[in-house]
Amino acid sequence: SVPLGFFAGIGAAAQVGVLVKGSNYLEELNTIDTVVFDKTGTITKGEFGVSQIIAQGMAKEELLALAARIEAKSNHPIAKSIVSAYGNLKVEEIIGEYKEISGEGIVVNQGDSVLLAGNEKLMAHYQIDYKQEEEIGSHVYVARDGQYLGCIVVADQIKADSKAAIAKLKAGGIKKVIMLTGDKKENAYKIGNEVGIDTVHAELLPQDKVTKLEEALKGGKVTFVGDGINDAPVLARADVGIAMGGVGSDAAIEASDIVLMTDELSSIADVMSIAKRTRKIVT
Ligand code: ADP
Ligand code: MG
Repeated sequence: SVPLGFFAGIGAAAQVGVLVKGSNYLEELNTIDTVVFDKTGTITKGEFGVSQIIAQGMAKEELLALAARIEAKSNHPIAKSIVSAYGNLKVEEIIGEYKEISGEGIVVNQGDSVLLAGNEKLMAHYQIDYKQEEEIGSHVYVARDGQYLGCIVVADQIKADSKAAIAKLKAGGIKKVIMLTGDKKENAYKIGNEVGIDTVHAELLPQDKVTKLEEALKGGKVTFVGDGINDAPVLARADVGIAMGGVGSDAAIEASDIVLMTDELSSIADVMSIAKRTRKIVT
Protein backbone atom coordinates (compact mmCIF):
# COMPACT_ATOMS: atom_id res chain seq x y z
CA SER A 1 0.00 0.00 0.00
CA VAL A 2 0.92 3.68 -0.18
CA PRO A 3 3.74 4.72 2.14
CA LEU A 4 2.93 7.55 4.54
CA GLY A 5 5.18 10.34 5.75
CA PHE A 6 5.51 10.69 9.53
CA PHE A 7 2.95 13.48 9.89
CA ALA A 8 0.51 11.53 7.75
CA GLY A 9 1.22 8.49 9.92
CA ILE A 10 0.27 10.38 13.09
CA GLY A 11 -2.85 11.65 11.31
CA ALA A 12 -3.81 8.15 10.17
CA ALA A 13 -3.36 6.88 13.75
CA ALA A 14 -5.62 9.68 15.03
CA GLN A 15 -8.29 8.53 12.59
CA VAL A 16 -8.36 5.09 14.23
CA GLY A 17 -8.56 6.69 17.68
CA VAL A 18 -4.88 6.48 18.60
CA LEU A 19 -2.88 9.47 19.82
CA VAL A 20 0.83 9.09 19.00
CA LYS A 21 2.93 11.60 20.94
CA GLY A 22 5.81 11.72 18.44
CA SER A 23 6.89 10.29 15.10
CA ASN A 24 9.78 8.41 16.76
CA TYR A 25 7.22 6.16 18.48
CA LEU A 26 5.83 5.08 15.11
CA GLU A 27 9.37 4.14 14.09
CA GLU A 28 9.86 2.26 17.38
CA LEU A 29 6.59 0.36 16.93
CA ASN A 30 8.09 -1.32 13.84
CA THR A 31 10.72 -3.00 15.98
CA ILE A 32 8.39 -4.39 18.70
CA ASP A 33 8.25 -8.17 19.06
CA THR A 34 6.74 -8.52 22.56
CA VAL A 35 3.49 -7.00 23.80
CA VAL A 36 2.95 -6.93 27.58
CA PHE A 37 -0.55 -6.21 28.88
CA ASP A 38 -1.85 -5.20 32.27
CA LYS A 39 -5.07 -7.08 33.11
CA THR A 40 -7.53 -4.92 35.04
CA GLY A 41 -8.82 -2.02 32.97
CA THR A 42 -6.78 -3.14 29.95
CA ILE A 43 -7.72 -6.73 28.96
CA THR A 44 -10.82 -6.39 31.16
CA LYS A 45 -13.20 -3.44 31.39
CA GLY A 46 -12.12 -2.51 34.91
CA GLU A 47 -15.79 -2.11 35.84
CA PHE A 48 -16.47 -4.49 38.68
CA GLY A 49 -19.95 -5.46 39.82
CA VAL A 50 -20.67 -6.84 43.28
CA SER A 51 -21.72 -10.46 42.75
CA GLN A 52 -21.92 -11.69 46.35
CA ILE A 53 -21.83 -10.47 49.95
CA ILE A 54 -20.88 -12.97 52.63
CA ALA A 55 -21.30 -11.40 56.08
CA GLN A 56 -20.18 -12.95 59.36
CA GLY A 57 -22.30 -11.91 62.32
CA MET A 58 -23.85 -8.82 60.74
CA ALA A 59 -26.37 -7.98 58.03
CA LYS A 60 -25.11 -7.93 54.41
CA GLU A 61 -26.15 -4.28 54.07
CA GLU A 62 -24.12 -3.40 57.15
CA LEU A 63 -21.00 -5.12 55.76
CA LEU A 64 -21.42 -3.38 52.41
CA ALA A 65 -21.85 -0.01 54.14
CA LEU A 66 -18.71 -0.52 56.20
CA ALA A 67 -16.69 -1.63 53.15
CA ALA A 68 -17.95 1.39 51.17
CA ARG A 69 -16.82 3.76 53.92
CA ILE A 70 -13.38 2.15 54.05
CA GLU A 71 -13.05 2.28 50.25
CA ALA A 72 -14.57 5.77 49.83
CA LYS A 73 -11.30 7.61 49.09
CA SER A 74 -9.74 4.99 46.80
CA ASN A 75 -9.61 5.37 43.01
CA HIS A 76 -9.15 1.63 42.48
CA PRO A 77 -11.88 0.16 40.21
CA ILE A 78 -12.70 -2.43 42.91
CA ALA A 79 -13.20 0.34 45.47
CA LYS A 80 -15.40 2.36 43.11
CA SER A 81 -17.61 -0.69 42.48
CA ILE A 82 -18.17 -1.23 46.20
CA VAL A 83 -18.98 2.44 46.77
CA SER A 84 -21.45 2.47 43.89
CA ALA A 85 -23.06 -0.83 44.98
CA TYR A 86 -23.70 0.77 48.37
CA GLY A 87 -25.79 3.31 46.51
CA ASN A 88 -25.41 6.80 45.28
CA LEU A 89 -25.80 7.96 48.85
CA LYS A 90 -23.05 10.21 50.00
CA VAL A 91 -20.63 7.93 51.77
CA GLU A 92 -19.79 9.41 55.17
CA GLU A 93 -16.06 9.75 55.42
CA ILE A 94 -14.23 7.52 57.76
CA ILE A 95 -12.27 9.71 60.14
CA GLY A 96 -8.83 8.32 60.72
CA GLU A 97 -5.46 7.67 59.23
CA TYR A 98 -6.09 6.25 55.76
CA LYS A 99 -3.53 4.11 53.95
CA GLU A 100 -3.86 2.46 50.54
CA ILE A 101 -1.48 -0.47 50.05
CA SER A 102 -0.92 -1.09 46.31
CA GLY A 103 -1.89 -4.61 45.31
CA GLU A 104 -3.51 -5.30 48.71
CA GLY A 105 -6.20 -2.84 49.78
CA ILE A 106 -7.06 -0.26 52.42
CA VAL A 107 -6.18 0.22 56.08
CA VAL A 108 -7.93 2.87 58.19
CA ASN A 109 -6.47 3.50 61.62
CA GLN A 110 -8.95 5.29 63.85
CA GLY A 111 -6.80 5.17 66.95
CA ASP A 112 -9.07 2.96 68.99
CA SER A 113 -10.10 0.93 65.96
CA VAL A 114 -8.42 -0.52 62.83
CA LEU A 115 -10.48 -1.19 59.70
CA LEU A 116 -9.28 -3.32 56.78
CA ALA A 117 -10.68 -3.99 53.29
CA GLY A 118 -8.56 -5.90 50.83
CA ASN A 119 -7.33 -9.22 49.51
CA GLU A 120 -5.77 -12.35 51.01
CA LYS A 121 -2.35 -10.65 51.26
CA LEU A 122 -3.75 -7.81 53.37
CA MET A 123 -5.53 -10.27 55.69
CA ALA A 124 -2.32 -12.28 56.06
CA HIS A 125 -0.28 -9.15 56.87
CA TYR A 126 -2.67 -8.23 59.67
CA GLN A 127 -2.96 -11.85 60.86
CA ILE A 128 -6.70 -11.93 60.38
CA ASP A 129 -8.29 -15.36 60.74
CA TYR A 130 -10.45 -15.05 57.61
CA LYS A 131 -12.38 -17.64 55.64
CA GLN A 132 -11.07 -18.02 52.09
CA GLU A 133 -13.96 -17.80 49.59
CA GLU A 134 -13.98 -19.87 46.38
CA GLU A 135 -16.45 -17.85 44.28
CA ILE A 136 -15.10 -16.67 40.92
CA GLY A 137 -14.00 -13.08 41.11
CA SER A 138 -11.90 -10.77 43.26
CA HIS A 139 -12.44 -11.03 47.00
CA VAL A 140 -12.50 -8.01 49.27
CA TYR A 141 -12.21 -9.27 52.83
CA VAL A 142 -13.30 -6.91 55.61
CA ALA A 143 -12.05 -6.86 59.19
CA ARG A 144 -12.37 -4.58 62.21
CA ASP A 145 -10.05 -4.66 65.23
CA GLY A 146 -8.56 -7.99 64.21
CA GLN A 147 -11.95 -9.58 63.77
CA TYR A 148 -13.05 -10.98 60.40
CA LEU A 149 -16.42 -9.59 59.29
CA GLY A 150 -16.94 -11.10 55.84
CA CYS A 151 -16.18 -10.87 52.17
CA ILE A 152 -17.51 -8.97 49.17
CA VAL A 153 -17.03 -10.69 45.82
CA VAL A 154 -16.63 -8.44 42.80
CA ALA A 155 -16.29 -9.54 39.19
CA ASP A 156 -14.95 -7.81 36.11
CA GLN A 157 -15.62 -8.59 32.43
CA ILE A 158 -13.26 -9.21 29.53
CA LYS A 159 -13.53 -6.47 26.87
CA ALA A 160 -15.42 -7.62 23.78
CA ASP A 161 -12.43 -7.17 21.46
CA SER A 162 -9.54 -8.42 23.67
CA LYS A 163 -9.30 -11.89 22.13
CA ALA A 164 -9.55 -10.65 18.54
CA ALA A 165 -7.04 -7.89 19.25
CA ILE A 166 -4.44 -10.39 20.50
CA ALA A 167 -5.00 -12.68 17.51
CA LYS A 168 -4.53 -9.65 15.24
CA LEU A 169 -1.23 -8.74 16.94
CA LYS A 170 0.07 -12.28 16.42
CA ALA A 171 -1.08 -12.29 12.80
CA GLY A 172 0.83 -9.03 12.39
CA GLY A 173 4.09 -10.65 13.53
CA ILE A 174 4.17 -10.13 17.34
CA LYS A 175 6.10 -13.10 18.74
CA LYS A 176 5.11 -13.00 22.39
CA VAL A 177 2.11 -11.73 24.37
CA ILE A 178 2.45 -11.48 28.17
CA MET A 179 -0.02 -10.41 30.89
CA LEU A 180 0.99 -8.93 34.25
CA THR A 181 -1.45 -8.59 37.12
CA GLY A 182 -1.75 -8.10 40.85
CA ASP A 183 -4.82 -10.32 40.83
CA LYS A 184 -4.96 -13.93 42.01
CA LYS A 185 -3.58 -16.78 39.87
CA GLU A 186 -6.98 -18.48 39.39
CA ASN A 187 -8.58 -15.37 37.89
CA ALA A 188 -5.50 -14.40 35.92
CA TYR A 189 -4.91 -17.80 34.27
CA LYS A 190 -8.58 -18.13 33.35
CA ILE A 191 -8.65 -14.71 31.67
CA GLY A 192 -5.25 -15.24 30.01
CA ASN A 193 -6.47 -18.52 28.51
CA GLU A 194 -9.69 -17.01 27.24
CA VAL A 195 -7.99 -14.24 25.30
CA GLY A 196 -4.89 -16.10 24.02
CA ILE A 197 -2.07 -14.73 26.23
CA ASP A 198 1.18 -16.78 25.96
CA THR A 199 2.53 -16.11 29.48
CA VAL A 200 0.65 -14.93 32.57
CA HIS A 201 2.40 -13.53 35.66
CA ALA A 202 -0.03 -13.06 38.58
CA GLU A 203 -0.07 -11.87 42.21
CA LEU A 204 2.49 -9.18 41.39
CA LEU A 205 3.08 -6.08 43.46
CA PRO A 206 3.65 -2.86 41.46
CA GLN A 207 7.47 -3.20 41.77
CA ASP A 208 7.26 -6.87 40.61
CA LYS A 209 5.59 -5.64 37.42
CA VAL A 210 8.66 -3.49 36.69
CA THR A 211 10.92 -6.52 37.29
CA LYS A 212 8.86 -8.69 34.90
CA LEU A 213 8.95 -5.96 32.27
CA GLU A 214 12.72 -5.71 32.60
CA GLU A 215 12.98 -9.47 32.07
CA ALA A 216 10.94 -9.09 28.87
CA LEU A 217 13.21 -6.23 27.73
CA LYS A 218 16.17 -8.63 27.83
CA GLY A 219 14.40 -10.81 25.26
CA GLY A 220 13.44 -8.14 22.73
CA LYS A 221 11.69 -4.85 22.01
CA VAL A 222 8.70 -4.41 24.28
CA THR A 223 5.53 -2.37 24.36
CA PHE A 224 3.51 -2.24 27.58
CA VAL A 225 -0.22 -1.56 27.49
CA GLY A 226 -1.89 -0.46 30.74
CA ASP A 227 -4.38 1.81 32.48
CA GLY A 228 -1.79 3.19 34.89
CA ILE A 229 -3.57 2.16 38.10
CA ASN A 230 -0.54 0.73 39.90
CA ASP A 231 1.43 0.44 36.64
CA ALA A 232 2.57 3.93 35.57
CA PRO A 233 6.26 3.02 36.31
CA VAL A 234 5.96 0.01 33.96
CA LEU A 235 4.51 2.20 31.22
CA ALA A 236 7.44 4.57 31.51
CA ARG A 237 10.00 1.73 31.43
CA ALA A 238 8.79 0.02 28.20
CA ASP A 239 10.31 0.78 24.76
CA VAL A 240 6.84 2.03 23.83
CA GLY A 241 4.24 2.67 26.57
CA ILE A 242 0.59 2.56 25.52
CA ALA A 243 -2.10 3.94 27.88
CA MET A 244 -5.86 3.64 27.99
CA GLY A 245 -7.32 7.12 27.32
CA GLY A 246 -10.78 6.40 28.73
CA VAL A 247 -10.36 4.51 31.99
CA GLY A 248 -6.66 5.38 32.28
CA SER A 249 -5.31 7.55 35.08
CA ASP A 250 -3.75 10.95 34.35
CA ALA A 251 -0.39 9.52 35.45
CA ALA A 252 -0.69 6.81 32.79
CA ILE A 253 -1.54 9.23 30.02
CA GLU A 254 1.43 11.35 31.11
CA ALA A 255 3.87 8.40 31.32
CA SER A 256 2.85 6.91 27.97
CA ASP A 257 4.07 7.41 24.39
CA ILE A 258 0.80 6.40 22.76
CA VAL A 259 -2.78 6.75 24.03
CA LEU A 260 -5.75 4.60 22.93
CA MET A 261 -8.56 7.15 22.99
CA THR A 262 -11.30 4.49 22.76
CA ASP A 263 -9.60 1.90 25.03
CA GLU A 264 -10.09 -0.67 22.22
CA LEU A 265 -7.13 -3.04 22.11
CA SER A 266 -7.66 -3.81 18.41
CA SER A 267 -6.45 -0.31 17.62
CA ILE A 268 -2.93 -1.39 18.69
CA ALA A 269 -2.64 -3.71 15.68
CA ASP A 270 -4.11 -0.91 13.53
CA VAL A 271 -1.47 1.59 14.61
CA MET A 272 1.24 -1.04 14.14
CA SER A 273 0.21 -1.51 10.53
CA ILE A 274 0.08 2.26 10.06
CA ALA A 275 3.64 2.36 11.48
CA LYS A 276 4.73 -0.15 8.83
CA ARG A 277 3.39 2.08 6.08
CA THR A 278 5.03 5.15 7.58
CA ARG A 279 8.52 6.07 6.50
CA LYS A 280 10.80 8.93 7.01
CA ILE A 281 10.72 11.41 4.15
CA VAL A 282 14.38 11.79 3.19
CA THR A 283 15.21 15.34 2.26
P1 ADP B 1 -4.11 -5.34 38.34
O1 ADP B 1 -2.66 -5.69 38.24
O2 ADP B 1 -4.97 -6.48 37.92
O3 ADP B 1 -4.45 -4.06 37.63
P2 ADP B 1 -3.86 -4.15 41.03
O4 ADP B 1 -2.38 -4.21 41.15
O5 ADP B 1 -4.50 -2.80 40.85
O6 ADP B 1 -4.43 -5.18 39.91
O7 ADP B 1 -4.50 -4.81 42.33
C1 ADP B 1 -4.19 -6.14 42.67
C2 ADP B 1 -5.13 -6.68 43.72
O8 ADP B 1 -5.01 -5.91 44.94
C3 ADP B 1 -6.59 -6.59 43.35
O9 ADP B 1 -6.99 -7.70 42.57
C4 ADP B 1 -7.24 -6.58 44.72
O10 ADP B 1 -7.36 -7.91 45.21
C5 ADP B 1 -6.26 -5.83 45.60
N1 ADP B 1 -6.61 -4.42 45.76
C6 ADP B 1 -5.94 -3.35 45.31
N2 ADP B 1 -6.54 -2.19 45.66
C7 ADP B 1 -7.64 -2.55 46.37
C8 ADP B 1 -8.69 -1.80 47.03
N3 ADP B 1 -8.75 -0.48 47.02
N4 ADP B 1 -9.64 -2.52 47.67
C9 ADP B 1 -9.60 -3.86 47.70
N5 ADP B 1 -8.67 -4.62 47.09
C10 ADP B 1 -7.69 -3.97 46.46
MG1 MG C 1 -4.65 -2.14 36.28
